[in-house]
Amino acid sequence: MSELAYPYEAPASQALFDRAAAVTPGGVNSPVRAFRAVGGTPRFMVSGKGPYLTDADGREYVDLVCSWGPMILGHSHPEVIAAVQDAVARGTSFGTPGEGEVALAEEIVARVEPVEQVRLVSSGTEATMSAIRLARGFTQRSKVIKFAGCYHGHVDSLLAAAGSGVATFALPDTPGVTGAQAGDTIVLPYNDLDAVRAAFAAHSGEIACVITEASPGNMGVVPPADGFNQGLKDLCAENGALYVSDEVMTGFRTSRAGWYGVDGVRPDLMTFGKVMGGGFPAAAFGGRADVMAHLAPAGPVYQAGTLSGNPVATAAGLAQLRLLDDAAYDKVDAVSAQIQELVTGALTKEGVAHRLQTASNMFSVFFTDRPVRNYEDAKAQESFRFTAFFHSLLANGVYLPPSSFESWFVSTAHDERAVQRIADALPAAARAAAEATA
Ligand code: PLP
Repeated sequence: MSELAYPYEAPASQALFDRAAAVTPGGVNSPVRAFRAVGGTPRFMVSGKGPYLTDADGREYVDLVCSWGPMILGHSHPEVIAAVQDAVARGTSFGTPGEGEVALAEEIVARVEPVEQVRLVSSGTEATMSAIRLARGFTQRSKVIKFAGCYHGHVDSLLAAAGSGVATFALPDTPGVTGAQAGDTIVLPYNDLDAVRAAFAAHSGEIACVITEASPGNMGVVPPADGFNQGLKDLCAENGALYVSDEVMTGFRTSRAGWYGVDGVRPDLMTFGKVMGGGFPAAAFGGRADVMAHLAPAGPVYQAGTLSGNPVATAAGLAQLRLLDDAAYDKVDAVSAQIQELVTGALTKEGVAHRLQTASNMFSVFFTDRPVRNYEDAKAQESFRFTAFFHSLLANGVYLPPSSFESWFVSTAHDERAVQRIADALPAAARAAAEATA
């Protein structure tokens, strides 16, 4: 690759990436970290403080990824770190019940009204996988509706892409997922209630649940159209299916009560992760008590985990949630709005066609002049402009998600200095986007 494409070298990161590639497939433990969508050397980070990350070459970045959502208080928040240190000093895992997990469950139940009972797990993937199993066990039905462009973790049956047509049975999206595993998944276009209605009509009595991101952030930010989530809820209720709202990304980020706190549509089951773990592996699923009662050991649907409710992870999550009061959300919303305005201003000034879409304080930029309502729209953007935009910002100390299909995240720690650094870096990035060619 030319120096022009990647204006900054990162020799220490490159050396680590080479070492990593020798022992780990693709050199990373989660694919998007490898920078494949944008090219160049993934930055190996060595520390984080407030809104900043520092890489192995000693370069500092304003972080607009926030660990893909969890770090809503910024990095190394002193009260979260203190809670973790206190927990670690008492031992790291007991394999027994403990008070920390009760307190975290109580905090979730208190914040999110539809959650009457909750089960803690260790990742968002586990949460959605378990919620789907529970929905199937509860309804005694096998089929699941999901939407193209919604990501629910790497659950076999949910790794299925849309085919063409209104309602299509999914083909597995990856080798290793069998036709049988994907065959009970119906993939529909997002924001299309008619497609959902048609699927329920075609598969009457067979659909266990509809799972949707409460407000999608995994195809870039594509909020639900007015009435879409309510329509899903109503169709589920009419057809004896469960409405499963995946709030792994939006939960405790888009408001105190996540996206439920924004649109008030009451799910039967919900999934959480990211923010509730305070930077540690903690996630959850919960909802109606009568549904959750089907979960072992109360009921017959099996689900378990050696490290579920881990004392260190629950201490971090609880400390973070307790710091997230109304003032904290006001702050995140305000700084997000400020950055959104700077981004749009810079791109508009350079005449770059773009859509900045928001879901509360989550936002992302699509390089297109058309509204993005679903995955097909998102894929139609000029992603090559994002690549140029991304690398220019990276070179000037701003770390964006390395893909144009991801939400950007900010934190309470993004202060004036951090925002100024973004403001300083944007004009060149907007110019690079304007000048980029496919
Ligand atoms: N659901 C949503 C909406 C997500 O955004 C993600 C991860 O990004 C997941 C589920 C999976 O979570 P995890 O990566 O913790 O397995």
